[in-house]
Amino acid sequence: MNMKQIEIALLKNCINGSWIEAQTDRFEEVINPATGEIIAKTPLSSREDVAQAVMAAENAFEQWKETTISERSKLMFKFHAILLEHQKELAELITKENGKTYHEAYAELLRGFESVEFACGLPTLMMGDNLSNVSKGIDTYMVRFPLGVVAGITPFNFPGMLPLWMFPLAIACGNTFVLKPSEKTPLSAIRVVELAQKAGIPNGVLNLVHGAHDAVNGLLEHPGIKAVSFIGSQPVAEYIYKTASKHGKRVQALAGAKNHHLVMPDADLDKTAEILVSSAFGCAGERCLAASVVVAHEAIADVLAQKIVAYSDRLTVGPGADRSSEMGPVIRKSQLERAHGYIQQGEESGARLIRDGREEGREIGQGYFLGPTVFDYAQPDMSIIQDEIFAPVLSMMRVRSFDEGIETISKSRFGNGACVYTNSGAYAREFVQRVEAGMVGVNIGLPAPMSFLPFSGWKNSFYGDLHANGKDGVEFYTRKKVVTARWYRGDETSIGQKRDFVK
Ligand code: NAD
Repeated sequence: MNMKQIEIALLKNCINGSWIEAQTDRFEEVINPATGEIIAKTPLSSREDVAQAVMAAENAFEQWKETTISERSKLMFKFHAILLEHQKELAELITKENGKTYHEAYAELLRGFESVEFACGLPTLMMGDNLSNVSKGIDTYMVRFPLGVVAGITPFNFPGMLPLWMFPLAIACGNTFVLKPSEKTPLSAIRVVELAQKAGIPNGVLNLVHGAHDAVNGLLEHPGIKAVSFIGSQPVAEYIYKTASKHGKRVQALAGAKNHHLVMPDADLDKTAEILVSSAFGCAGERCLAASVVVAHEAIADVLAQKIVAYSDRLTVGPGADRSSEMGPVIRKSQLERAHGYIQQGEESGARLIRDGREEGREIGQGYFLGPTVFDYAQPDMSIIQDEIFAPVLSMMRVRSFDEGIETISKSRFGNGACVYTNSGAYAREFVQRVEAGMVGVNIGLPAPMSFLPFSGWKNSFYGDLHANGKDGVEFYTRKKVVTARWYRGDETSIGQKRDFVK
């Protein structure tokens, strides 16, 4: 037997355009969740690595901010074309490190590329405002400026899309960037940065530092960082918001979720059940807009529960690289065990487990699989309703009326997405008006806004003011200067009288 160990690559940081080793001997393993195989090692970079990246970005900013708007926009067009050429390769990489199916990874990328398309429209987006004659002979105009160095910190669940929600727009606005991708799924981010380099993004404008909390704290506390874009879990988002704000930075921190879906008796139950299953179990439930609680009107709850189980039974669970799989594994063994723990808690607290995906998951093999799992008769105070499980576990609660449904949803501390299923325009409209969530679906299971609009979570699902994407994104990555100007012809006084020149 050949005992020679296969060398697992230690990933490198990208600083000032060069891929260099981090100054640390600490690392985290990158694992293929479908097999448990170690595929790379992420260095847990030190504050020195972070400082080096920030310095490179600060130096690059001096020139980058002087580039013309059309140069930056053309670069985004080129980057977009290169991304499209590499979509298949990127999708395979996402599947390998994240576990989601190839089709899901391919679709994820489309949503990421959309943010680059949006950044291509920068000449219009960066336009300011003006108002003439605000006072006699006086005009005002507003001009947008970049901030300087911006940091982006991303989670594991959309490793290709989420870096693209941040750096293309930030850079197009004239900022330079330091990206800290998830230590669990760093490979897609590396490839995306390489492709940005290929498109011609100059050295130092886009830097990548691997790591976990030490690297993040280095960014949050560094005086050279002017703004922080974060996406991740609720406790970390809150920490990022408070810490970065304390250090005088702008922050947008997109956080965790527990999305409630209200089903009214007049809804098309077949379509609704199919949509709910796809929303809850797509990407193995690891989506911040995944359906996690069904709030069913009691008149249709029995039928709906049967249909949800029937559609769940049809899903093919398996390795994401197998093109026939419809649901892959969760990210880590610890995440699988956490989900098992919640299932046990749900049973112990009296919810009825109407579909148990644990055995089905175990049968698949070495990866971290859990089949679709469904509870009925859950109650608001149970942990399966209160906490974000981030796995394929869907819980159903029963209500007697529309109003009780709205009240039940309002008890959640999260407010990312909320959906209603009905054929009544009146219920749909009232739901949109009253529900306490920032992204609302009407007969839609995943109300994710296109990149041209803000991704607008509420309550504990978001910390900050300006959301990611859309015009909010442009506002976040720019600061405004308002100029008030008056010009003299030379032969008039400030009130328009002929001036007697002093000879
Ligand atoms: P996470 O919070 O564990 O990690 C996110 C990032 O924060 C990573 O880069 C990680 O290195 C860093 N981090 C983790 N712990 C830290 C700490 N103690 N101090 C400083 N930095 C730390 O999140 P995750 O598990 O990678 O991603 C899943 C979470 O992200 C879910 O809660 C999901 O709802 C959320 N999410 C939200 C949105 C949204 O738009 N609201 C989108 C995608 C994911």
